[in-house]
Amino acid sequence: MNIAFIAHDKKKDDMVQFVTAYEKVLQEHTLFTTGTTGQRIMDATSLKVHRFQSGPLGGDQQIGAKIAENNMDCVIFFKDPLTAQPHEPDISALIRLCDVYSIPLATNMATAEILLKGLQRGDFQWREIVKGKEAEGKSRS
Ligand code: PGA
Repeated sequence: MNIAFIAHDKKKDDMVQFVTAYEKVLQEHTLFTTGTTGQRIMDATSLKVHRFQSGPLGGDQQIGAKIAENNMDCVIFFKDPLTAQPHEPDISALIRLCDVYSIPLATNMATAEILLKGLQRGDFQWREIVKGKEAEGKSRS
């Protein structure tokens, strides 16, 4: 599965702790991150990630584009609800696209844990079906 990780500055320590706890599970997936979040993850773990731009410089929008292309299966986004973000419109747009395309999205660690437990259990297999159907549709047109 393709999984995106984003953490606002005050949530980056939580994110590092989270991916460290799930490192074994995450090794089996393709990981995408915004710039600084990805750097922190790579510094703390042996995980390889595809890093986009930093969030305020367009990283959230780049992840949004992957969702619009049906190339993102899950988004783990540790948002800071207590600090104003300069790129708030990009954050809202990313969350909106998750809802448009029914992409599982966690915005805090409690939900993220449930999603990763579901991932381990095979609850994300429907994404392969959705992607297969889309590819089938494209090859017919
Ligand atoms: P960052 O971006 O990982 O580059 O800090 C996240 C954000 O603040 O949106």
